[in-house]
Amino acid sequence: MTLMMPRLGHVYPTAVSAIGSVVQDAAGREWIDGSSGAIACSIGHGHPHVLEGIHDQLQKASFLYRTQFASEPALRLAERLCVKLGYDAAFFVNSGSEAVETAVRLAQQFWREAGKPSKTQVLSRTISYHGSTAAALSLSGHWPRRRTAAALTGTPTLPTPNCQRCPLRQKRDECQLACANAVEQEIERRGADNIAALLVEPIVGASAAGLVPPEGYIKRLREICDRHDILLIADEVLTGLGRTGRWLAMDHEGVKADIVILGKGLNAGYFPISGILASERINGLLTRNQASFALGHTHSNHPVAAAAANAVLDILEQDSLVERAATMGAYLGDRLRAMIDDMPFATHLRGKGMLWGVELVQDDISYSPWPSELNAADTVVRHAFDLGLIVYPSSGFINGTSGDAVIVAPPFNTPQAVLDTLVDRLTTAL
Ligand code: PMP
Repeated sequence: MTLMMPRLGHVYPTAVSAIGSVVQDAAGREWIDGSSGAIACSIGHGHPHVLEGIHDQLQKASFLYRTQFASEPALRLAERLCVKLGYDAAFFVNSGSEAVETAVRLAQQFWREAGKPSKTQVLSRTISYHGSTAAALSLSGHWPRRRTAAALTGTPTLPTPNCQRCPLRQKRDECQLACANAVEQEIERRGADNIAALLVEPIVGASAAGLVPPEGYIKRLREICDRHDILLIADEVLTGLGRTGRWLAMDHEGVKADIVILGKGLNAGYFPISGILASERINGLLTRNQASFALGHTHSNHPVAAAAANAVLDILEQDSLVERAATMGAYLGDRLRAMIDDMPFATHLRGKGMLWGVELVQDDISYSPWPSELNAADTVVRHAFDLGLIVYPSSGFINGTSGDAVIVAPPFNTPQAVLDTLVDRLTTAL
């Protein structure tokens, strides 16, 4: 018998403990978790307050079905998130992919209820990752994953801004946000009457390692969506709840989406939970129409998952960890910048807060990516792993051309001395 593993034939070390920022295997080898698992464990591993919250709820009611009962932890979580982030309603599912699908279905339902049933299409961008279920992957510009899937229902068509290597070949000072204007052109080409929503990661995560858009881009998207009456969906599965040094990455430009998707930051790796937050416009219409909400899964609004997420929020708030992600994230960014300045080959650093990407490029004029056969990011990640450091590879394939980057995204409460060791090990690995 063989166990099904992500990379068949690869032997993974068996971890026996994960506490704070350190993972240990049975032989006592230790790794600094420089990627928070899959950019999830924002408050570190094994936090006693979260374990206690999970344990307490398991003893009270381990499962309640969403169409039969509300649960205190799910109600409290919804209220806390809506009040803190300025939304009107919340709904919880299990994974980021499910939350993306839920957001898309909700946007489509909104337009049906609003008497505009032709508004069904969702626009997305050529470098993006929204999940691995069929519809979420259809909307994702993650070309290695797409290649393995059959019969996807859509294709992302909008350019993802990358000022280092502009997909529209514009000069930075002269472009007037051509990447945002391309969204409007696509809306006009398809007809706004056919479009339900625009789906974006405000800072690109897994497919392009912390790629930050030019200033004003997100604001421009909001204006375009308003002008054409299209919903703006912010996929904050990876960036949400503090990762970029603000509660939401959209906050960097002071822009509110119509639907926000949360995932990794909400569960912090403890218990599968993701969710969507909907604006007053959406929730108000559905409530007034007494629309039946035909979304959800067996474990939606799960009480134990919600208890875990409440405990994660407690820690983020009590320990001011979002503020710490900003300040220690800036420190980490400075250390990484100094590191790449000393490298004998070209690299590009981008990111915000506790989300950084070190991209390996051929030179720092063209910022051309290396050929994908080199597997540059995977190679660095493997060397780092051998040196006791977990970092995360990101291959932002751009219409078949690879870009290789390493994501550095440790827990927000990683001690400064551990961040220093992290950078030292990454330097050696590079
Ligand atoms: N959206 C974004 C922005 C993500 O980063 C991810 C996961 N990397 C997903 C959606 C999918 O989440 P999950 O893997 O939990 O389904």
